[in-house]
Order: sequence, then structure tokens, then C-alpha cells
Amino acid sequence: MQLDEIYQEIILDHYKHPRHARIIAEDEALVNEENPTCGDHIKLNARLEGDQVADVEIDCQGCAICSASASMMAERVVGQPITAVMKFSDSLIEMMRGGPVLSESELGDLTALSGVRQYPLRVKCATMPWHALESAIRRLRS
Ligand code: ZN
Repeated sequence: MQLDEIYQEIILDHYKHPRHARIIAEDEALVNEENPTCGDHIKLNARLEGDQVADVEIDCQGCAICSASASMMAERVVGQPITAVMKFSDSLIEMMRGGPVLSESELGDLTALSGVRQYPLRVKCATMPWHALESAIRRLRS
């Protein structure tokens, strides 16, 4: 199997079977964001416990890139320390915007999204869930 095909498989798997996904009503969403360029719509709730991200719930109506990024994000951050999550999120967003590329061991499944960097119009699709998560964490901590 070609590497590209493996990446496609990972993205499609998360798109078809999103992790930590739940229908979230407009009035119960902590963060509610839309990406007009693509039509992606994400609603997100998060729960913090001490210095950890205890849970994340995502309702993503969007393209495969956005949905897969959101699903991989939830899988990645739940149970992790908040500071590490924020740092990783910043680095990932930077990478998507053309910044330094994270190693495969840092990225894990998210390596599958690194090809998106070549498509400026899709970068927002991949980064939106991470922006939403950062907003949620900031809101919960303020
Ligand atoms: Zn999109």
C-alpha cells in the first residue's frame, strides 16, 4: 500500500467513524464556529478536571478534512495535560500554515493531514477544530 493510501484510509476512517462525536444543540455548545470557505460547521464542548482535558465532545458537519481533524484531535487530547494540549495545538496550527513540520512520532495519526499544507484553501478545514478547542479551553479557564 502506498503511504498516500494509508493516509487516505486514516482520514476516511475518522470521517466515517468520528471519535467523541455527539449531536450538540446550538444553545449547549461552548464553541460554535463556521468556515464559510468550505461550509464546515463545528460545535464543541470540553470538560477540564484539574490540569487535564477530561473530555471533549464534537459535533462536526463538514468535509472529510475537518471531520477527521476533529476526530483525531479528540482522540489525541482527552486525558492530556492542558498546557501540553495548548502547546501541541499551537504547533499543529503553525505547521498547517507553513511553519515547522512536527515529527511523525509527535503527530501520530495526524501525520495523515500534513499533506493539507499544500492546499491553502483546505488549511482552515484542518485547523478549525484546533482553534475551537483552544477557544473552549480559554473560556473554561477564564
Ligand atoms: Zn472543509
